[in-house]
This record gives sequence, C-alpha cells and structure tokens, in this order.
Amino acid sequence: YHVKRRGRNGLRVFEPSNVEQEIGRTLTRDLTAALREGQFSLAYQPLLDLQTRTTVKVEALLRWTHPLHGPISPATFIPLAEVSGLIVPLGDWVLHEACAQVRRWQEAGLRVGVCVNVAPLQFAQPGFVGKVLETVRAHGIPHGALELELTEGALLADPTGVRQALHELKAAGVRTALDDFGTGYSSLSQLRDLPIQTLKIDRSFVRDLEQPGEACQYTEVLIQAVLAVARTLHLGVVAEGIETEAQLRRLREFGVTVGQGYLFSPPRPAAEIEGLSGHL
Ligand code: C2E
Ligand code: MG
Ligand code: MG
Ligand code: MG
Repeated sequence: YHVKRRGRNGLRVFEPSNVEQEIGRTLTRDLTAALREGQFSLAYQPLLDLQTRTTVKVEALLRWTHPLHGPISPATFIPLAEVSGLIVPLGDWVLHEACAQVRRWQEAGLRVGVCVNVAPLQFAQPGFVGKVLETVRAHGIPHGALELELTEGALLADPTGVRQALHELKAAGVRTALDDFGTGYSSLSQLRDLPIQTLKIDRSFVRDLEQPGEACQYTEVLIQAVLAVARTLHLGVVAEGIETEAQLRRLREFGVTVGQGYLFSPPRPAAEIEGLSGHL
C-alpha cells in the first residue's frame, strides 16, 4: 500500500502516492458505511495445545467484505480505521460480537475462551476497561473467557495509565496478552512491571526457524531468551504463524506449549471451527 520514494536527503522513505491517498480516502469513507451496513464479520482461528493438538481457545479476527471490492485485508483497513478514529466504534463492535459468540458456544455446551485484538487508540480511551467489563457482563460470559491482545504500541503512551488499566483488567479476571512480541520497542525488562499473562511470539520469528544460517540461529536464541523470561515472570507463551511440522517440532523442543497457524487451521467462520470440546 505504501511505495518507496526517494526523499530529499536521498534516503528512501515510505510515502503514499496520490493514487494511494485517493484509495485510502475512498476506503475510509466506505469503512464508516460498512459498520452501519453490517459488512464486517469475525473469523476465528484456533489456538492449540501443541502436545495434544487440541483447541484451547480462539482468536477473533476482523473481516471486511466490501460490496464492490470483495474481501479487504485487515492489514489495509485497520491502519485506515486507526487514523480515522473509526477503530474505536469498530473495536466496540468486535468486542460485542466476540462475547456474543462465546455466549452462543456456551449455550451449545462449549466452553471456549476468545482472544480479541485491541488497537492502541482503543486501549487509550478513557473508560475502556469499564466498557470491556460492561460488555462481558452484558453477554453473561465468565471474565476469564476473554483475553485482550495488545501490541507493544499500546504500552508506549502513558505508562501509568496503561499499568492502571492492566491492573484493573487483571483484578477483574480479564486476561491480557502482548501480541506480535519481539517486533516492537518494549524491552524484556519492562515486562517485569506489566500485569499481563501471555506473550505471543510474532510469526516472523517462527518463519525464521526454517531459514538455515544466521537468521535461524539468532531466532532460536531469541525465542529461548523469551521463554526464559516468560518462565521467570510466570507468563504464558503462544507461537503465531506455525505453518510446518518442522517449525512445530522446534517450538515444542524449546518448550512452547500453545500455538496457532495454518498448519492447524486458518481463521474460519464460527460455525466451521472444529475440535471445540466441552472441556476447555
Ligand atoms: P494478529 O493479531 O497478529 O493476527 C494474526 C494474523 O496472522 C492474522 O492475520 C492471521 O490470519 C494470520 N495468520 C495466522 N496463522 C498464520 C500462518 O500460519 N501464516 C501466516 N502467514 N499468517 C497467519 P489477519 O487476520 O489478516 O490480521 C492481521 C492483523 O490485523 C492482526 O494481526 C491484527 O493486528 C489486526 N487485526 C485483525 N483483527 C483485528 C481487530 O478486530 N482489531 C484490531 N485492532 N486489529 C485487528
Ligand atoms: Mg492478535
Ligand atoms: Mg500477532
Ligand atoms: Mg502478527
């Protein structure tokens, strides 16, 4: 979506072209209508116990089917929704829909937890925690059935407010995870002070596990360091983007116990999620 241009100082910078800016404006306008007109849906990707290959919970992932252009990737529309602020009402919708689905599974006898992605702007809204707890209660699901996935970007602004919000969520029994871990700017030492429960190792590291050579060696050391820190801080670890048996084998050797990826299942509509049991 961004093209490379040569900047004034000769450095290559990313800057949207005129055409792209126009597409961005059009999509942003369409996004607003999309929420009103019910063009969004959620897909769910199972997170599995890597030893038993049974589903332990699911991640809700937003899908937009544009009336003219068909499915549009979150990688395209989430940034537009963040810039325009629409991510706040859109994020509310995701939270409601995910909790409603957990309730439907519950009523079908399936005890499933759901992970919901939360954008930095959404997390920074005053009253965010209150809204989350209200939503959980409105749908009558256990607080522990909801896990919020935050990115490192959400932790950068206002450290005191962030810590406070995380403490409130933890006290209420709502779980929190740090998504795409290893790609942002947070340091391992910062983790000690954050009341979160889970680290999600970004799929770029999982992918590198198979590249022979230095990238792979570095990645292996990095994953082992993350696991050591996680053990010390009593954090759970989830590996994202597992695509091959070889990656799975290596992750298991390292002691990673939970993972998700195309090897097991792509994100699917709720009705097509297999392997949910009543004993999660
Ligand atoms: P994420 O939260 O890190 O989600 C994981 C992404 O990896 C998903 O992409 C998923 O489909 C993809 N994935 C899962 N397994 C594999 C695999 O084995 N290989 C590969 N190559 N990819 C895999 P998706 O659904 O396109 O979402 C992209 C990102 O958009 C998400 O990354 C998340 O940051 C954001 N996003 C999605 N839904 C929401 C939402 O409801 N709210 C917010 N704020 N962001 C969302
Ligand atoms: Mg996520
Ligand atoms: Mg992720
Ligand atoms: Mg990711």
